[in-house]
Amino acid sequence: MKPTHIFLHHVGYNHSVYTVNKGHKDKGYPKSSLGWYVGYHYYIRNGKLWKTRKEDEVGMHNRGYNEKAVAIGFDKNHETTPLSNQDQKLATPLMKGIQKRWNIPNENIKGHCDTDNTVCPGKYVMSFLEEYKYSPVSIAPEKPTENVIQPSKGRLTAIQRAINVIRQKIKNLLKSLNL
Ligand SMILES: [Zn+2]
Repeated sequence: MKPTHIFLHHVGYNHSVYTVNKGHKDKGYPKSSLGWYVGYHYYIRNGKLWKTRKEDEVGMHNRGYNEKAVAIGFDKNHETTPLSNQDQKLATPLMKGIQKRWNIPNENIKGHCDTDNTVCPGKYVMSFLEEYKYSPVSIAPEKPTENVIQPSKGRLTAIQRAINVIRQKIKNLLKSLNL
């Protein structure tokens, strides 16, 4: 496949890649050419990155997008656990590299909740994604997208929760500046 999207997920538990591998094997997910059953293409945990599928291999993570997306899985419940700086520092160049290799515009990087009724990948990953999209070194889209995607209910509440996290960050910053 030629990936046109990047999807971010969380596994929902504090799980090692081996636990996820077993879980996904038990669910019957197909084995990748790299020998993993993990449905995502990459797995990030505690500042470490595993490549579990080749980027052009079909994944198992989001019905409707398995044949067109590279999936990155984070290892915790990121609705309740913040995404660590080390994991953000790992995910940022990884995402930029995937965008560059496959010419994927910013608006095609999504959280699972953008297309499904789920909290996955959690508000902390969603706020990371919002900040990533607005960082000045991001790749700008070559042309406007023709398909307007209606935001799902999950997406709207995820954005609201992401905004709350950013609002809190600004509050803390202002506090630290004594304003
Ligand atoms: Zn997901």
